[in-house]
Amino acid sequence: MKLYNTLTRKVEDFKPLGDTVKIYTCGPTVYNFPHIGNYAAYAYWDLLVRCLRLNGYKVKRVLNLTDVGHLTSDGDEGEDKLEKGARLEGKTPFEIADFYAKVYLDNYAAMEFLPADVIARATDYITEDMKAVDLMTERGYTYETRDGVYFNTAKFAEYADFARLDLAGLQAGARVDFSSEKRNVSDFAVWKFIQPGEKHAMRWDYLGRPGYPGWHLECATIIHKELGEPIDIHTGGIDHIPVHHTNEIAETYAAYGTELSRFWLHCDFITIDGQKISKSLGNTYTLEDLEKRGFSPMDYKMWLLSGHYQGTRNFTFESLEASHNRRRNWRERIAMCYQKEMKGGHFAEILEAVSDNLNSAEACALIDNLELDLSDWEKIDALFGLRLIDDTPDVSAEVYNLIRDRDAARTNKDFEKSDKIRDELYKRGIALNDSPDGAMWYYTS
Ligand code: AMP
Ligand code: ZN
Repeated sequence: MKLYNTLTRKVEDFKPLGDTVKIYTCGPTVYNFPHIGNYAAYAYWDLLVRCLRLNGYKVKRVLNLTDVGHLTSDGDEGEDKLEKGARLEGKTPFEIADFYAKVYLDNYAAMEFLPADVIARATDYITEDMKAVDLMTERGYTYETRDGVYFNTAKFAEYADFARLDLAGLQAGARVDFSSEKRNVSDFAVWKFIQPGEKHAMRWDYLGRPGYPGWHLECATIIHKELGEPIDIHTGGIDHIPVHHTNEIAETYAAYGTELSRFWLHCDFITIDGQKISKSLGNTYTLEDLEKRGFSPMDYKMWLLSGHYQGTRNFTFESLEASHNRRRNWRERIAMCYQKEMKGGHFAEILEAVSDNLNSAEACALIDNLELDLSDWEKIDALFGLRLIDDTPDVSAEVYNLIRDRDAARTNKDFEKSDKIRDELYKRGIALNDSPDGAMWYYTS
């Protein structure tokens, strides 16, 4: 397999470090309803796991759920997103986390994403977080301010490398009134202290006062505990490169003295009608919004897989309609396989396309144009998770009998009877296409 590695900015041959491919996916912050953009990356990482397995690799994948420490700024300022959600909904942050974690996991299932082998909640790793801060401090990478324990990025010479950050430029561009006790503008909190009077329900005693972990730390400690670094592939959204992933790398090196991951994969953002997804533009569509307009989660997954994970993609309802039609056409071809001998044996070409840096767009074009048999379609379903066959079961003997009766009525020029049978079948969701081989059926939806 070939994958684009953000670390080297090149497409490289992928070879796992050990027997099992170790993959970590930065998961969602569970504080509100996900919009369709939030599923983009997971659809491609699902494809990654499926593609690796079909190439014969064993895979262990860990997904985290962030339920503490992610501030509204992505940096060290602002309110904790879970605390903010709790305040707005009049609930506790734990209730908010439980509720939205379930929403996310239910929707992942609706999108036919393979469940991760481990689903790790950040708040279950607080002891590990404290140990990691101890280690970083012992090794001289941190300093304390009134606000928390900070990572001193000046102590980690490679800090800027991963994201190709311009630290001098960042320092120069820092706000003039920058009044924090941070020593360098790129320094970041590994642990935050809760100030007297500050409302923060999620709190743990550490270093003699209440506090909570900085956002990035959970990923470093979960990986350390559940997979052991270096892992093979770390995935996330493109927005994670400059802050979150850069900081995870720094923390792992400082606490454990090791490289975090061999490959880094990042999914680009999708736009809607050419604009970024935002509440103020009213385009934060959920899966339910799509369903209300007659599109299933599988139509949306088809839309995602019809493009490449790298490069901005623009979502429109017209393009979703095209994906719906493409999936329907594929299902019509599956229905055809039940009725007629098809030539196949093309799956290797399709897998090869996806194995080339997850080029699902190229694979879709191949599928559109190749003659395929049922065995090909079964494997395509294993690769894409599109419920193509589940949603296209072979029809019952009773339906086949009706189709034969109608063919006979047509031969006898009894068009009244043949139309009646056609209408009856249509009511059952089955349409007929008359061909030289007799009538072929397909599903109407
Ligand atoms: P948010 O809750 O908005 O911070 O989003 C959580 C994660 O979902 C982000 O870190 C991104 O990786 C991903 N994400 C958000 N918006 C989009 C988008 N428009 N397209 C693709 N991924 C997105
Ligand atoms: Zn992460």
